[in-house]
Amino acid sequence: MKLIDKINQKLKEGKTFFSFEFFPPRTEEGVENLFERLDRMVAYAPIFCDITWGAGGSTADVTLDIATRMQNQVCVETMMHLTCTNMPVEKLESALKEVKKVGVQNILALRGDPPKGQEKFEVVEGGFSCALDLVKYIRKEFGDFFGICVAGYPEAHPDGIVEDPQQMEKNYWADIAYLKQKVDAGGELIITQLFYDVERFVQFVADCRSVGITVPILPGIMPIMTYGGFKRMTGFCKTKVPAEISDALEAIKDNDEAVKNFGIDLGVRMCRRLLEVGTPGVHMYTLNLEKSAVAILERVGLIDTSRVPRPLPWRHIPSGTSRVVEAVRPVFWSNRPKAYLKRTQEWTSYPAGSWATNGRRGGAPAAASSGGAVYGSLSEQPYMSRHSCSEARREKARAAWGAELGGVEDVKAVFKKYAQGEVSLFPWAEGEAGLPAECAPLREQLAQLAAAGYLVINCQPGVNGAPSTHPTSGWGAPGGYVYGRPYLEFFCSPEAWEALRPRLDAVPSVSYIASTAAGSPAGNMGADDVIGLTWGVFPGKEVVQPTVLCAASFPVWKEEAFGLWASEWGALYGADSASRSLLAGLAGSWVLVAAVQNDYVAGADLAGVVLGQ
Ligand code: FAD
Repeated sequence: MKLIDKINQKLKEGKTFFSFEFFPPRTEEGVENLFERLDRMVAYAPIFCDITWGAGGSTADVTLDIATRMQNQVCVETMMHLTCTNMPVEKLESALKEVKKVGVQNILALRGDPPKGQEKFEVVEGGFSCALDLVKYIRKEFGDFFGICVAGYPEAHPDGIVEDPQQMEKNYWADIAYLKQKVDAGGELIITQLFYDVERFVQFVADCRSVGITVPILPGIMPIMTYGGFKRMTGFCKTKVPAEISDALEAIKDNDEAVKNFGIDLGVRMCRRLLEVGTPGVHMYTLNLEKSAVAILERVGLIDTSRVPRPLPWRHIPSGTSRVVEAVRPVFWSNRPKAYLKRTQEWTSYPAGSWATNGRRGGAPAAASSGGAVYGSLSEQPYMSRHSCSEARREKARAAWGAELGGVEDVKAVFKKYAQGEVSLFPWAEGEAGLPAECAPLREQLAQLAAAGYLVINCQPGVNGAPSTHPTSGWGAPGGYVYGRPYLEFFCSPEAWEALRPRLDAVPSVSYIASTAAGSPAGNMGADDVIGLTWGVFPGKEVVQPTVLCAASFPVWKEEAFGLWASEWGALYGADSASRSLLAGLAGSWVLVAAVQNDYVAGADLAGVVLGQ
């Protein structure tokens, strides 16, 4: 979706908003760290996130790759920066075609800075000399497909900043006149260069309006994080720094913590004033760091870290791509949404409303009913395995799951620690956020189940009409009520399974499906059965049912779930180690069980049934 449409919607609703900017890290490990951070920061619901284009086009491939993943795996509306530096028209065309193909619909069109070591911007042969030409080109070649954003300079572009006040005035207004040309050529949104004098921004907006620039102007806020970084950035951009800010910083410049805290306080004061004068939203230059940007937005009241909003129980891809109509997912991938997105990326349509009617008989997922053959494979995605990239990551996982494993009791202990919030990494979850907040009511029971040898990898508590705004169970728009059937998915030994099966059969309201890695699914669910697991009732809408237990998808999931014993956990240890062979033994012989208590109002406690209590 174009940003301008999202912004106009917010303006109509009278809601303020924020966005986050990131830059492409230099190393593969840095990229993976960025995605972990993105996952956390996107949960605060920025209106969009953008990724910069390295000076001189130095990061073109990485930027393109990150933009693709941001849009399609992190599921946030994404804007990619694109500059003219070292980019002949053919290269610009191919970059634009590539992002168009993957559903990124927003471009920040820039001239670009000169590459490192070069003083002045030089036009590359067959390229453009300014952002205006790029904006015109995008509109001419791609029509209305892209939402186009352009850069604005509240203190004029650094090249135009001079000592002579008269000349400065002339340059400032020439810059604004040129900005108007960029907007008239197709720029729908302006993001500004960083500044520290809020009144300068206010005047800049007034000056833009006075020449007929009517598009939204978002202030670029760069929290001060280090004294050195601040001096470098303000020097490079020739930013005016009010005396009270430079004096205060000089006094604390050797105290990193104090500088950071000052940066947060200043950011809060700036954002408050900006919102007070009617600025619709703020754009945070995060420098790929989380703490300062989030702290500022939290203190300003733009985010509430204690209540992370969830439009659905799972994260959906922003609109503008074919996935927009997706409304139902099997529960199995709740903690592995990226794997699910990857497996289903070739689908041409997605279940909307009901998996049984839309998911199987209509659309592309139809063959889910024939053993899940249509789910794509994960094999060629190296980033699906958390440990593929670095020793540091492996160390972190070893610290969480054991440097070596002495036996099954050590394995149970890891599940127990995860349930109790003592470790946040988990082989069956992509993120590093620990047990999902909505499962918190089950913590004690999950620990008991782990101790008894039922190793839970996915679960949800029963919810019977909680307000949609409930801090942990809630999802969807305010004013609704949400429901959920108790669900447990766990591994257990073959002996435990033999003992458990009669207990499950003795409770008619429990449905279950189970299998070893090599076996065929058994249980009391038919091969085509689909059970609604979460649903919500909202004013003026049909019932929404976003999560299901789908027997036909189980074979695909079970292969993935059993595989994770080795790929996520066993891979931490030496090829001939006892730890690795212990995990391989469990994966080869234990049973994966998915069970749901259909009677979510008065049915027997599901964990109690499993535990035989
Ligand atoms: P332009 O809009 O082309 O303008 C540059 C200067 O030239 C202005 O002073 C303008 O007045 C003057 N000018 C150009 N053409 C004309 C004309 N026809 N008539 C009159 N005046 C003219 N750099 C990167 O390398 N990668 C990034 O990802 C990146 N992201 C940025 C994001 C934001 C929000 C901002 C504000 C800057 C970003 N930059 C980035 C820096 C930017 O590339 C530099 O500031 C660059 O020097 C100018 O880019 P521009 O798009 O503003 O250029």
